[in-house]
Amino acid sequence: MSGSALPPFDPYDPLGIDDLLSAEDRAVRETVRTWAADRVLPYVAGWYEAGELPVIRELARELGSIGALGMSLTGYGCAGASAVQYGLACLELEAADSGIRSLVSVQGSLAMYAIHRFGSEEQRQEWLPRMAAGEVIGCFGLTEPDHGSDPAGMRTYAKRDGDDWVLNGRKMWITNGSVAGVAVVWARTGDAPNNPGFRGFVVPTDAPGFSAPEIKHKWSLRASVTSELVLDDVRLPADAVLPEGAGLKGPLSCLGHARYGIVWGAMGAARSSFESALDYAKTRVQFGRAIGGFQLTQAKLADMAVELHKGILLAHHLGRRMDAGRLRPEQVSFGKLNNVREAIEICRTSRTILGANGISLEYPVMRHATNLESVLTYEGTVEMHQLVLGKALTGLDAFR
Ligand SMILES: Cc1cc2nc3c(=O)[nH]c(=O)nc-3n(C[C@H](O)[C@H](O)[C@H](O)COP(=O)(O)OP(=O)(O)OC[C@H]3O[C@@H](n4cnc5c(N)ncnc54)[C@H](O)[C@@H]3O)c2cc1C
Repeated sequence: MSGSALPPFDPYDPLGIDDLLSAEDRAVRETVRTWAADRVLPYVAGWYEAGELPVIRELARELGSIGALGMSLTGYGCAGASAVQYGLACLELEAADSGIRSLVSVQGSLAMYAIHRFGSEEQRQEWLPRMAAGEVIGCFGLTEPDHGSDPAGMRTYAKRDGDDWVLNGRKMWITNGSVAGVAVVWARTGDAPNNPGFRGFVVPTDAPGFSAPEIKHKWSLRASVTSELVLDDVRLPADAVLPEGAGLKGPLSCLGHARYGIVWGAMGAARSSFESALDYAKTRVQFGRAIGGFQLTQAKLADMAVELHKGILLAHHLGRRMDAGRLRPEQVSFGKLNNVREAIEICRTSRTILGANGISLEYPVMRHATNLESVLTYEGTVEMHQLVLGKALTGLDAFR
């Protein structure tokens, strides 16, 4: 192996993972990266500090115009991108802020995916083109105040009244809720203990009895809209129910799609933090030399680079499996568990390298770290993914 024939070592791509990308993959990545650099990065610290995302509707339309909404879905104005391309987009968006990636994940992988996969042709025609264009924002209501990891206990109830459905209940921690034009809401439709009959409903948010008060005072995902959904005798026509996806398999398969995006996205937050720490370590001088010249700092940087690029490689692997139609839910759990956990560690270690500056919003590191606390919990907590993997490994169910 001749040294001169080898490509140079790239500190930002030490494993040469970019070699795995096609020209089209790179173009997708570049489009999203450029959009985020222009439209998110200059403003996001301010939104975060204010705890609001005042331009969410403009951002949604722009994300629609670059094809980022429902990106891997086909037809109905969706981009029909590969799973790897969707993942690359999630990584670039979350390198800007987890809140922006959450907006896109909930819109595309939860709300649009549910309608695309389980909806009628009429529901798809009615909602998907406007959602793909970012004209209508969607949300996905599964979690309730008393039922998070175990949605089977949900209380939200859909009762038949003639041909109509009448929905009552409350959903909690719903991303995009207060700005949504359409909510995909999961409710129980039966009382039998073994067959409670969960169904998904497409709820226009201007339906009488629907409201979505915003949840304030969050210390994480502050540049993201999070809401309660209140359903108070919301009357819907017979065709508001999603005809397919009955039971909890419906919402769980949507979550699988969104979790896949998080496997990539978390590495974006980690990359941004790592790069801040690397740049800082090269210029910050203490004891007469750049702190990056101390062995202890180098150990941190080396360990972070190893976990960051292992995580990106894992995301690629899962993306290829998804594109080949071979990605199992347990494999998504594997990726979500590893990548979010490692991403938080990378942010925390980066924070130490930046010293006091690490706690300032002048740098992205603390913002990413606090955002990832939500990402660690939503779409299945660490413990839920450990239980999924534990069950797959042992054949023994330890959920109850
Ligand atoms: C910012 C944000 C946005 C969100 N957006 C959405 C959204 O758009 N739509 C939506 O439906 N939901 C959303 N969620 C909710 C999220 O999915 C839930 O918070 C998550 O599923 C966990 O539920 P919980 O908070 O009720 O925690 P709980 O389920 O009460 O869990 C609390 C703790 O107990 C642990 N635990 C529970 N059961 C077990 C067990 N069997 N063994 C071991 N440990 C266990 C959990 O792992 C966790 O550590 C969002 C949450 C946040 C923070």
